Amino acid sequence: MTERVPGWPVEFQQRYRAAGYWQGRTFDRILADLADRHRDDVALIGGGPIADAERITYGELLTRSRRVAVGLRELGIGAGDVVLLQLPNRIEFVVTWFGLQHLGAVPVHAQPGHRHRELSQLAATTSAVAYVTTDVHQRFDHRGLARQVADLVGSVRHIIVVGELGEYAADDRFVTYRSVADAPEPAAPLHAGAASDLALLLLSGGTTGTPKLIPRTHDDYFYNSRAAGARCGLTAQTVYLAVLPIAFNFTWNCPGILGTLAVGGRVVLAESPDPAQCFALIERERVTYTAINPQLVPAWLDEYARGTADISSLEVLEIGSARLADPMARRIVTELDVTLQQILGMSEGLFCATYLDDDVETVCTTQGAPVSAADEIRVVDEHGTEVGTGEVGELTVRGAYTPRGYYAAAEHNKTAFTADGFYRTGDQVRRLASGHLIVVGRIKDQINRAGEKIAPAEVEGALAAHPAIESVAMVGEPDPRLGERSVVYLVVRGETVPTRRELAAFLGRAGLAAGKAPDTVRVIETMPLTPLGKIDKKALRAGGPAS
Ligand code: AMP
Repeated sequence: MTERVPGWPVEFQQRYRAAGYWQGRTFDRILADLADRHRDDVALIGGGPIADAERITYGELLTRSRRVAVGLRELGIGAGDVVLLQLPNRIEFVVTWFGLQHLGAVPVHAQPGHRHRELSQLAATTSAVAYVTTDVHQRFDHRGLARQVADLVGSVRHIIVVGELGEYAADDRFVTYRSVADAPEPAAPLHAGAASDLALLLLSGGTTGTPKLIPRTHDDYFYNSRAAGARCGLTAQTVYLAVLPIAFNFTWNCPGILGTLAVGGRVVLAESPDPAQCFALIERERVTYTAINPQLVPAWLDEYARGTADISSLEVLEIGSARLADPMARRIVTELDVTLQQILGMSEGLFCATYLDDDVETVCTTQGAPVSAADEIRVVDEHGTEVGTGEVGELTVRGAYTPRGYYAAAEHNKTAFTADGFYRTGDQVRRLASGHLIVVGRIKDQINRAGEKIAPAEVEGALAAHPAIESVAMVGEPDPRLGERSVVYLVVRGETVPTRRELAAFLGRAGLAAGKAPDTVRVIETMPLTPLGKIDKKALRAGGPAS
């Protein structure tokens, strides 16, 4: 496509269009068509207390998002402009997302925990022109953060706040979402973009010092919605509960919110993954399908055992984003009256899921099979040679919804993708004869902490600036609660040994998300090195040298 957004080779584009995977529809048109078909059906339900839980229909979602688009256009936002979106699980996220689609503008799905370092890097990489955020959420004032980001990156001219401006009203970069959403409805479509255009930018879990962005087009992302929705059995009768953060690809499109809307279903937004709140929403809204990560499973099982709510409407529980231990999968199948659906998904594209009618053994021990006939899977050894069925190798993939490169990262793309366009996932899997994959490990330098990915290189880079630290390395260790916890090994310069809390505060001041602070800090005499002089993380993972 462009230098910043690597596209698929022409013969692949033709193939995907001819097969009907790519339908040539942009998300603004897709929403307009859905509103034609389901105008008065409820599309979205806010998760607040029942008295003020907002419900909006497909018709209202279209109207509201078109009005937001006009309001954004009045601020000077237009086609190709990039906008950071950092909102909790609220209807405004969905309305703004579609509002941007009406203009051909591009949302960046910032994560809820991101702070000024991540956000300013994202803004600088994309020359973002605006930042949509909330006032105060979970006792954190996002307006102050937004101002910091806009001070650091001059391209960010507008900060749109869902809520009150308070003292920030004096800063003319700030406007309320309310004022943007109050704009009149336009008479005609606002933009006629191509379906091969960039529709959104997702965050990669990453392995590098700075966060990488994944460019997704209308064509590929909508195919992702449909293919995932079909495998997960979504229909117009589906009531989907969004539990995890809305910006995650898992929640948004696997099949998630877009997958549900694509078939005319209903989406309920939970403000928190707390099982008591979620169970109450399941009961109240007769939720049929929901998705959580393995770390939430024990609390959900406990809540179910307490019998506090009637969740008999729930048909399918989808679990992914980290490895679900087989025994835990068996507990779900035995203790809950639902169909378990395991998935292996990634913002980089590929989505695998078990079939709803798979036998119990397959559901409890595999992470599913790819959802598209166009997903080309190669499980390879360290030389790139395919391994046999059932053997362990790295999962690599190419397909109609797996982009061919990261955004504006030409150099990194040379190693993250093979010469013939396969994405190297860094995940170690075994592929069964049935096509189902079993995740057995990881070769990428990444920590999967409660489903949230940490790139050690990013944290190490930030900690290297600490005056007491001579050398630092971060690795993951198994943890019963988090799946993996982050452990920082330090060689210190003098007598002072920084504590875990001090390091967390140091990283916080450097502007990193709180979830990236180490869970454990260990001080060692010398860093173990490989024969090539690099830090030997294998040795550290194996317990590290004696301190
Ligand atoms: P993200 O893009 O944040 O969803 O992260 C994608 C990565 O999460 C994958 O490449 C895997 O490393 C990991 N992941 C997702 N689902 C699973 C799963 N079911 N089992 C193990 N790892 C998973």
